[in-house]
Amino acid sequence: MKIGYVCTNYNNSSFTQEAVRSFLNNGAHEYRVVIVDNHSDPENVRLLETLPREFESVELILNRENKGYFRGLNDGIRHLRRHHPEFQHLAVGNNDLVFPADFADSVDRCEQVFSRYAVVSPDIVTLDGVHQNPHVIKKIGRSRELIYDLYYLNYYLAMALRRLSKWTQRFTSRSDTTQHRIAQEINQGHGACYLLGPEFFRHFEELWAPSFLMHEEFFLNKQLADKGLCIYYEPSIKVSHHWHAAIDKVPAKGIWRAAKDTHKIVREIRSQRGPYLRARGYQLCTNCVMDTTDPGITFDDKGVCDHCNTFEEWTRPNWHPNEAGREALQKKIDEIKKTGTGKDFDCIIGMSGGVDSSYLTYIAKQQLGLRPLVFHVDGGWNSQIAVNNIEKLVDKLGLELYTEVIDWNEMRDLQLAFFKSGVPHIDLPQDHAFFATMYKFAEKHGVKYILTGGNVSTECVRNPLDFFYYGTDLWQILDIHRKFGKVSLVNFPLSGILRHKVYLRYFKRIQVVKPLDCISYVKKDAEKLLIEQFGWQIYPQKHFESRFTKFYEGYWLPRKFGFDTRRVHFSSLILTGQMTRGVALTELSGSSFDERSIAQDFEYVATKLGITVAELQGYMDAPNKSFRDYRNQLRLFQMGARVMQLMGLERAIKR
Ligand SMILES: [Zn+2]
Repeated sequence: MKIGYVCTNYNNSSFTQEAVRSFLNNGAHEYRVVIVDNHSDPENVRLLETLPREFESVELILNRENKGYFRGLNDGIRHLRRHHPEFQHLAVGNNDLVFPADFADSVDRCEQVFSRYAVVSPDIVTLDGVHQNPHVIKKIGRSRELIYDLYYLNYYLAMALRRLSKWTQRFTSRSDTTQHRIAQEINQGHGACYLLGPEFFRHFEELWAPSFLMHEEFFLNKQLADKGLCIYYEPSIKVSHHWHAAIDKVPAKGIWRAAKDTHKIVREIRSQRGPYLRARGYQLCTNCVMDTTDPGITFDDKGVCDHCNTFEEWTRPNWHPNEAGREALQKKIDEIKKTGTGKDFDCIIGMSGGVDSSYLTYIAKQQLGLRPLVFHVDGGWNSQIAVNNIEKLVDKLGLELYTEVIDWNEMRDLQLAFFKSGVPHIDLPQDHAFFATMYKFAEKHGVKYILTGGNVSTECVRNPLDFFYYGTDLWQILDIHRKFGKVSLVNFPLSGILRHKVYLRYFKRIQVVKPLDCISYVKKDAEKLLIEQFGWQIYPQKHFESRFTKFYEGYWLPRKFGFDTRRVHFSSLILTGQMTRGVALTELSGSSFDERSIAQDFEYVATKLGITVAELQGYMDAPNKSFRDYRNQLRLFQMGARVMQLMGLERAIKR
């Protein structure tokens, strides 16, 4: 038979050597081995490198970071299957295994089992003769769930529980493994080794890996269960595990914390909420390029995603980039002009230097005849291109530019706090500062109209809430700053949702107007006009006018959280007929950042924030968090959105 072995390795390469040798010394079968090294030290990497030299069938993947257990295994599984798709039986797992000489034979004899079950758990025996399987036969009960919840509440409580369980033996000893002679369907197999068969690859390409470490057994069970599949325990296949089950290893605090993070995900799944509701295989929308890297995405039976359906059902019918829109806009423009009579300017335009706000400024002055004050917030991360673009436009249009510079010391401290918090939305301080400053200015100077470049044409697909949390959630900002900030926020502009959505909107009557939705706005044409008439410069990607946003969207988010924002931008352009799906897919197959310059960007960001490259790397490697891990006003936002939707004011609910 053709059988493969994929394992991860981290700093204990001698085990891997033994595992691989025992696997290959296994009778007349065809073998392939892929070792995924999770960034071991050089000495251990050197040891590993002897294996591919010694065996033609062994390959080595050297990760430049520790990707964790299942994610590391997935690197190996994908690699092996891409190059050798005919290998349909893979042993995947730890590197401290020893395979008996008849291992491949025993797998071969179980063809019947593999034709029915996607995953088979072998009889795993530790050095002291303990059978680790069947790990969990039936679903874990409520009382045990409660114990786990308590265990992950607090480290010291966890240690106390361990001690207590030693006295009572009630919580830790389970009778499941005493059934190690009985072949049967089980709920969870021990994570040290699984056998994936043809049935697995018929449904999936890889293991579901929402966590960095721990509880992998639970996730595999969930992945299979969602497709109506389960694991089969097969005692005739045996594997030795270099592990002393008898030694009670007290987890270091760091490990316990990583496990706690994962436990949180487990709880969300158990209680059917949060972003990890469904374990699933990969799926790409058949209409746009959004895929399952967006945790909240859903698909209809034609494989079309909810972004596309929302656009067709809600957004398109209410979007009028034509004569009707133009008429409605003209009414608003007349109102703005009338209100502004006798004043220095009749509205303000928030200007970033990007294409949306630049084109809006041009339209407002040249076509609509408004007298805007161009308002720019300098958060400290302007790219040179942005600065040039703003200056050129303002000069040639004869407008006045007002620049508000954010207190850099406070901005820096808040941005650092967000890095330390582990949340994905590290762009939030910048975002918040921009609009809070603008509102503050409008209120102070009695300006009633704020024009923004927000538009359906290039932004109709919303960013997933999990990665781009609400910039207006003051609770979240203050909680993260309280936990990780060092400098108090004295000058930093703060504005809560109630203040500007209710007080400023209905009591001070400050309105936000989005003219680009009422005219035909085609991104390519707009760029062409700006370049020709103003000597405007183009950006490699939307939102790259800020060096921070470039780093965040182009590198941090895809690398650390696996989400590529280009999917959102491209999908918007596809839905509004400005890009084809084929072109988008081709572009997406390339990296979102330049591998050669990323080291420089990394250093630039670290230096600018006043930290070392190693410290920034540390935040990159730290466990991922979500907005749910900190205080937030999500319920208020959702309620507000529902009310707005009921009143027909808001079309799509962010999720
Ligand atoms: Zn779609």
